[in-house]
Amino acid sequence: MKASNFLYLKPKSLDEALAYLAANEEPRIIAGGQSLVAAMNMKLAQPETIIDIGEIDGLNIFEATSNEVHIGALVTHSEIEFSKSSSKLISFLKEVSKNIAHTPIRSKGTFCGAVANSDPASEWCSCLLALDGSVEVIGQDRQKRIVDSKEFFIAPYLTNIGFDEILVSIKFPEINKHTKLGFNEYARRAGDYAIAMCVSKLDMKGEKVVDGNIVIGAATETPIIAEKAKNFLKGKRLSEETSWEAAIIASENISILPDIDSSEEYKRDIVKAVTYRSLLACS
Ligand SMILES: Cc1cc2nc3c(=O)[nH]c(=O)nc-3n(C[C@H](O)[C@H](O)[C@H](O)COP(=O)(O)OP(=O)(O)OC[C@H]3O[C@@H](n4cnc5c(N)ncnc54)[C@H](O)[C@@H]3O)c2cc1C
Repeated sequence: MKASNFLYLKPKSLDEALAYLAANEEPRIIAGGQSLVAAMNMKLAQPETIIDIGEIDGLNIFEATSNEVHIGALVTHSEIEFSKSSSKLISFLKEVSKNIAHTPIRSKGTFCGAVANSDPASEWCSCLLALDGSVEVIGQDRQKRIVDSKEFFIAPYLTNIGFDEILVSIKFPEINKHTKLGFNEYARRAGDYAIAMCVSKLDMKGEKVVDGNIVIGAATETPIIAEKAKNFLKGKRLSEETSWEAAIIASENISILPDIDSSEEYKRDIVKAVTYRSLLACS
């Protein structure tokens, strides 16, 4: 299928992009185009104006300090995948990135575009929540607004970004040496969207869990923190037994996103498996 007609604009600055957003009918930002163009071709999205942010200076920032990792709106999945940074957080993102689609898509699609798109099965959305990221957004008043990941996701494909705002970058606190990270997902074929995924971030004291996040994605409307499973693990030694118990608790205490391919029972089983494996990856 072919996309409907649209006006294509390519601003050179954020100021110009914001002005275009305010002045045009049904505008949409385009970054890598790897979700939006497919949606337009299937007529699931019919924006009248496309605002391409690809030539705006400063949006390709990708840096790690000892305190934080900063990912600008134009940083692609591939830049993360092939990063040579010694950051513990980036090393983890590198591993996760290999689960996103295929190489050609990863070389065009952006980290921030995936977060803005907020597909329930986006790996980066689950990482944003699990790794305590924050989203930097700029609006018509030209002021930056920081949105905490816990307030960012509203529903599938719906976030806290306003229609006249632009996601500028995402920041994560760097991982300290007492924190362990784990990821696991299940998809029918390599490169497919996952049926369920789990990102775990566990703050440890020795072998015991003191705090952290266990985030379930893909099987749920938006990424969610499995609060009961997290509370169960607090103060306990991380072992195969406690990980399995936590996985059962997680799978039984979330609201499953229905779909035509997989039953709720099947999805709960997959959630249990990916949560268990994600927690084991932390040990
Ligand atoms: C075959 C295929 C398989 C895929 N598999 C996966 C997968 O397994 N996991 C996964 O996570 N993704 C997958 N994707 C999607 C891919 O990762 C996209 O790159 C990503 O979802 C969107 O990034 P983008 O830069 O291409 O965004 P675009 O397509 O350009 O934009 C997506 C949406 O976000 C908005 N947007 C983008 N950037 C901004 C911004 N800076 N400010 C405000 N709004 C913005 C756009 O307006 C649009 O609504 C797949 C895509 C395809 C085609």
